[in-house]
Amino acid sequence: MNILVINAGSSSVKYQLIEMTQTKVIAKGGIERIGIEGSNLEHKPNGKDKIVIETPIADHTQAIAMVLDALTDKDHGVIKSMDEIGAVGHRVVHGSEFFSSGVIVDDKVLGQIQECAELAPLHNPASLMGIKACQKIMPGTPMVTVFDTAFHQTMPKNAYLYGLSYEAYEKFRVRKYGFHGTSHKFVAERYAEITGKKIEDLKLITCHLGNGSSVCAVDGGKSVDTSMGFTPLEGLVMGTRSGDIDPAIVPFLMNKMHMNLDETITYLNKQCGVWGLSGESSDFRDLWKASGKGIERATVALQVFCYRLKKFIGSYAAAMGGVDAIIFTAGIGENDYLVREWSVEGLQFLGAIIDKPLNEEFEHVRGNDVKLSTEDSTVDIWCIPTNEELAIAKETYALCK
Ligand code: ADP
Repeated sequence: MNILVINAGSSSVKYQLIEMTQTKVIAKGGIERIGIEGSNLEHKPNGKDKIVIETPIADHTQAIAMVLDALTDKDHGVIKSMDEIGAVGHRVVHGSEFFSSGVIVDDKVLGQIQECAELAPLHNPASLMGIKACQKIMPGTPMVTVFDTAFHQTMPKNAYLYGLSYEAYEKFRVRKYGFHGTSHKFVAERYAEITGKKIEDLKLITCHLGNGSSVCAVDGGKSVDTSMGFTPLEGLVMGTRSGDIDPAIVPFLMNKMHMNLDETITYLNKQCGVWGLSGESSDFRDLWKASGKGIERATVALQVFCYRLKKFIGSYAAAMGGVDAIIFTAGIGENDYLVREWSVEGLQFLGAIIDKPLNEEFEHVRGNDVKLSTEDSTVDIWCIPTNEELAIAKETYALCK
């Protein structure tokens, strides 16, 4: 069966068509600038050249129609007709407390995703547009939604409640939800698979480090704590997001920097993190270059990032009463050997010792799963590339085969 995976943003749609018997990507691509001047589709069929079509694309329905045209085109297509798509798996950011796993879409599910839009105003409405566009164009094809929050629904109350009034949780659903769940689950299960260990017996700390970054404590295959919270702003210092701060800083800076609420939210999401600290870039490649040139603020930004990450690793080992493996993934986790080295430096007391020359040799793991700890390290340190699209396709396939 072929599964079409759709990740719809407010002005973009990314897609992959995955053949599930061999779990092979047969085409992938994306549409950008929907409803904005300069919209285009980029389509890459497996084994053929990439094509780019630049044309006005008014809305998500037109975007999905273009994706299907590209997939079935007689020259650069990979299937003969839409009937060869068995199901569509949609990434949805927020499932609140409604969803603890992927589900087949019906009217009730659509209503619940809409209800969660208050908690993810930038993301959930875009996902709904993507789902509705697919339903319109492919009315007979089952749709599945896979939520970034779902994996973390197993967190116990002591981990997901904030020290706010209980009313904030009961009336307004203010609690820790966590994000990147599809990725944390994928690399945790992949570690168990590669090492031949039973996931039920494992205490894992998974570090998803990309533009947005989060850490997750996975005990027995279940998320028991994670660093992102009510929104993806909490936790680690990120590319441009602040991560954890004292909430009293918010009114203080609003006053000092003459910002209103919207400006403050934008500031915390877009102008902070390693970008704000370094004044250079949110991209770690640029930060290392700047640091190499002696720009101290770039070095400090990298140190702050790694120090915060190390503290989360230590606290999750404490929360689980031990750790069997620390797993790095996503853009930074898979490519930045110095971040991996600095963030486990000094964790020998936990039994975690990174093999520095090996870690450096595998600077970029290039799609491979690599063990990076020394022989005498009692805690495994691994780099396992994430694959959220494949994880969505697998969950969709399991519900629809
Ligand atoms: P997203 O959260 O957008 O999915 P990714 O997981 O693709 O992001 O990670 C993107 C980030 O990964 C970049 O901003 C950059 O900081 C980092 N990155 C990518 N390649 C490298 C590299 N070779 N060395 C260091 N960092 C890298």
